[in-house]
Amino acid sequence: MDLLLKETSKIIKQSNFTIAFTGAGISVESGIPPFRGGHGLWNKYDPQVLDLSYFLNNAEHCWTYIREIFYDFFADAKPNDAHRVLAKMESNNLLNAVVTQNIDNLHYEAGSKTVYEFHGNSKKLKCLKCGKVYDAKDIDFANIPPKCNNDGEILKPDFIFFGEGIPHDAYADSFASAEKAEVCIIVGSTGEVTPASYVPRTAKQAGATIIEINPEETIFTSAITDIHLKGKAAEILNQLDELLF
Ligand code: NAD
Repeated sequence: MDLLLKETSKIIKQSNFTIAFTGAGISVESGIPPFRGGHGLWNKYDPQVLDLSYFLNNAEHCWTYIREIFYDFFADAKPNDAHRVLAKMESNNLLNAVVTQNIDNLHYEAGSKTVYEFHGNSKKLKCLKCGKVYDAKDIDFANIPPKCNNDGEILKPDFIFFGEGIPHDAYADSFASAEKAEVCIIVGSTGEVTPASYVPRTAKQAGATIIEINPEETIFTSAITDIHLKGKAAEILNQLDELLF
């Protein structure tokens, strides 16, 4: 592992354009479980509550669970060392962008500036009628479903539900950065969610070296990964931090 880490830090230092592609795994050490796997959220909750057409017809029912998952449990989650090392790499010109599938805002909270949120962000809510955007911290979740103060329409968390498209700018920026990447660091993603998983695949096709940080093997590992750093995100990125700076 020491040799692999040294090799990785050398590759990152030599790269002219590096991106990170992050999934639920990077936030596990912040206390947010992933969706899939033994302790995954979908073992406890019905994914239907995040299905757009079901939500539109059953907003109050869905909001009971949405509040519990995203605004009770995860409200106090803080960035961990993995988020912090990526932010430090960016501020030292060793990382150009983070493409994240996560909706937890933790990359921004850690200090990252160029973050493409492929699936949106749970810290904002949007009116389904007029499009007005609200900060989650200004919402009184005692009364659900929360409603727009312009038109009384139901608010929806501003992350994408099953059945919704990817936000246009995040999609375009993510793929543009993948095309330019000389190195792509995948952190904590199964690679099972499309079209997000096409981002590192695009980087690979464009010639990037793919570094993967994950305690498990994933769909990416045998297909596109050049170096698999097997371990937890914060642990591995802390070790890289020591070699990079
Ligand atoms: P996933 O839930 O499918 O898989 C998580 C991956 O993280 C697995 O490969 C697992 O081995 C790995 N992992 C677990 N602990 C880890 C650790 N400590 N360090 C590094 N890796 C670790 O995640 P996904 O591929 O990102 O896709 C799920 C979808 O769920 C995404 O679209 C995302 O939007 C959403 N999601 C987001 C959050 C969040 O915002 N924090 C949480 C759960 C799910």
